[in-house]
Amino acid sequence: MLNIKYELAKELKAKPAKDKPLGFGKITTDHMFIMNYTEGKGWHDPRIVPYQNISLAPTAMVFHYGQTMFEGLKAYRDESGHTRLFRPDMNAKRANKSNERLCIPEIPEEDFVQAITELVKVEKDWIPTEPGTSLYVRPFVIATDEFLGVAPSKTYLFMVILSPSGAYYASGLAPVGIWIEDDYVRAVRGGMGFAKTGGNYAASLAGQVKAHDDGYSQVLWLDGVERKYIEEVGAMNIFFVINGKVVTPMLNGSILPGITRDSVLTLCRSWGYEVEERKISVDELIEAQKSGAMTECFGTGTAAVISPVGKLRYKDDVMTIGDGGIGAISQKIYDTVTGIQTGKLPDPFGWSVVLD
Ligand SMILES: *Cc1c(COP(=O)(O)O)cnc(C)c1O
Repeated sequence: MLNIKYELAKELKAKPAKDKPLGFGKITTDHMFIMNYTEGKGWHDPRIVPYQNISLAPTAMVFHYGQTMFEGLKAYRDESGHTRLFRPDMNAKRANKSNERLCIPEIPEEDFVQAITELVKVEKDWIPTEPGTSLYVRPFVIATDEFLGVAPSKTYLFMVILSPSGAYYASGLAPVGIWIEDDYVRAVRGGMGFAKTGGNYAASLAGQVKAHDDGYSQVLWLDGVERKYIEEVGAMNIFFVINGKVVTPMLNGSILPGITRDSVLTLCRSWGYEVEERKISVDELIEAQKSGAMTECFGTGTAAVISPVGKLRYKDDVMTIGDGGIGAISQKIYDTVTGIQTGKLPDPFGWSVVLD
């Protein structure tokens, strides 16, 4: 249990105007959580302070070798005014898997969740209430030793910042076009693809730019060795419905283990769908699309929850999935997950944490 010190802001910022779209990731709230790590002392000085810039030496290790970890989750305001978090214990567990891979010291799970819940409680008036909106929570760690050698840092900062975010879909689910990248790769087994760490996203930018230039909104990555098997999308896991079965790539070390992915698998199994986590080759997809066996494709992630894919491009093939619209299973999963997150539907798996 952390003994968090509070230094609250004397003046609060104006809340964003209700009639303007919030967008994503530009607005921050009045406060942030911060805690230091020093070798020999452990994590210390947890505090909630006014949101502010931090000062680091140009030699701070994070700037040079990318020793960093981040997480992402959302807080929602339910209809009776309570604040809800969706499976924050899963973020805590995944943060430590990332930390371990990056030689960052472990953060006790209960401390990670406590930091988030105490900060979100302080900032609860920042949780937007319009349908589809939420307060995005971004916990992260950076290496702060002043040293140009390559080694694990001996000091770190763990911070949590908050950003009110707009509805991902302005008017209901909308299908996207996805570019299957056949040249660049994102991660390889044995690398750090399963970790949420900056370097993976730096590696993804060039492919992302290429896809955007061609009018596609996201990249679907193939495995880094044979460039043959489906991995995942930029910040989403990927699912297909083939012959009525719900199919997704198995976790193999190079794919991020999404919490939405896990929730979707759990729900689909509970509904009696046949579910497969396995290798899926791009050739299989092309076949399944041609024969009509593939009826749906969708991405899963915290930002969009479900992102239906209407179109997949691979080299010279542009495949339309189903009728290019939103599949019935995609819609059902979206309605159920968002219903549980916002407290409108029962929560049979105990996923929501109600704060007050
Ligand atoms: C965060 C992320 C996901 C989705 O994970 P969720 O926990 O469902 O938000 C998938 N892939 C990558 C690369 C990610 O960074």
